[in-house]
Amino acid sequence: MKWISAACIHNWGWQKLKVLVIGIDGASPILVERWLEDLPTFQRIKKEGYFGISVPPTPAQTPVAWTTFMTGKNPGKHDIFSFIMRQRKTYERQIAQPAMIKSKTLWTLLCEKEKRVGIINVPMSDMKQVKGFIIPGFLAPTEGIPNPELIQKKLTRKFGIQRFIGDVETEVLLNVKKEPLRFFDRVNQITEETAQISLFLAEEENWDFFMTVLMGTDRIQHFFWRFIDPNHQKYKRNQFTELVREYYKKIDGILKKFLDIMDKETIMIVLSDHGFCPVHSELVINNYLEESGFLKIKNERIDLLKSKAVSYGYGDIWLNVKGREPQGLIESGKEYETTRNTIIQKLRELRFNSEKPFKDIKKREEIYWGNNLRNSPDLVAIFNLGWQAARRPEIMKKHPSRMYVNRNPRWSGGHDGTHDPVDVPGIIGFVGRNIHGPKEVMVHLQDMAPTILQIMDIPIPEDMDGQPMVF
Ligand SMILES: [Zn+2]
Repeated sequence: MKWISAACIHNWGWQKLKVLVIGIDGASPILVERWLEDLPTFQRIKKEGYFGISVPPTPAQTPVAWTTFMTGKNPGKHDIFSFIMRQRKTYERQIAQPAMIKSKTLWTLLCEKEKRVGIINVPMSDMKQVKGFIIPGFLAPTEGIPNPELIQKKLTRKFGIQRFIGDVETEVLLNVKKEPLRFFDRVNQITEETAQISLFLAEEENWDFFMTVLMGTDRIQHFFWRFIDPNHQKYKRNQFTELVREYYKKIDGILKKFLDIMDKETIMIVLSDHGFCPVHSELVINNYLEESGFLKIKNERIDLLKSKAVSYGYGDIWLNVKGREPQGLIESGKEYETTRNTIIQKLRELRFNSEKPFKDIKKREEIYWGNNLRNSPDLVAIFNLGWQAARRPEIMKKHPSRMYVNRNPRWSGGHDGTHDPVDVPGIIGFVGRNIHGPKEVMVHLQDMAPTILQIMDIPIPEDMDGQPMVF
């Protein structure tokens, strides 16, 4: 066990503090700074507290980032490498979900120490081992179902709900272009409901650690980033610019309500899992793998068994290795290395009208470590700003120019392309007991679980990768 350092003991004065975390999925430090004049609560956090940027893991995707937050570990240990991963035995795509996390979460550790937790709408959270209450969030099979039943009954009595809706319905998302205002209305409505339910439970229930996540920022920014970022090739100011600003004002108002109900023994942490960057082009990596002979097609579909390398739709590239995959084609050792080096070189050379889609292509051991490194993609492509992997990894029709690119895709903002974590930082803020700002801070998401354990005076497990912040 790592114990808090003497300096920390002095700083914290052995206080057993409570922690309240407000997660704002995808909230961007660029926008908070730009609109600060209209965001009085963020101003207050900046003035009285610590404020700065949080650096997401690679890839900077919602499930990977929140899992890194809640375990204090890199993906090589917690085993969540992407939204979509390869199932080794069947080669099929597998969507990330909480049961796949191979590590104790912050809340498990807290509950083991008899702390009471409340977890609302956190992506990749599930019901297991929680002393207290939980409403699982995005990607959980039990998403939106309050647990235990007593909490569900209380919420039904107060708000008339059985199942809590934390995210915009697919049908609304599919029609954003046609009905943008309906989308904004729905995001605002869900945000208000999430805030009301979270405030109600935070006030009514006993807890030592409470966390809620608002998802609207992420959903809005994917669709409307080109209306807010002057660095976007298709930047245009219009009514949407104002609607996004209004949304940040709404978030600011919600933060104020939490500060108002917070007691003197609590520290409030505000953070996002990643920020955003412009996206103007999407690239189908699999077309280039096919041209280089690594990927095979059968009946116009990717032949997963006969392919030496394939991408599942982000920056991931998985090799088909003998002795590892059931129908492996590449010898481990020298051939494996040569294959990886050739793919890296080919992708690095790609140019479109002098534009370079890739910033870098990493071998897995360069960015991950730990027991589950063997489950990660063999290569992770990091895109330059403006580019991301096509959401549909299927081969595009043969193109005479050999440019397998979608220009101006449905989303104009991104973060999970895979982008370099330093290109899409999130926000971090601390305010409350023992926090004497102003102070600018920078943390990696994996530092947050150890930092929270330190604040709550709980030993930090040795195998956590993150380091507690020194205040
Ligand atoms: Zn996210």
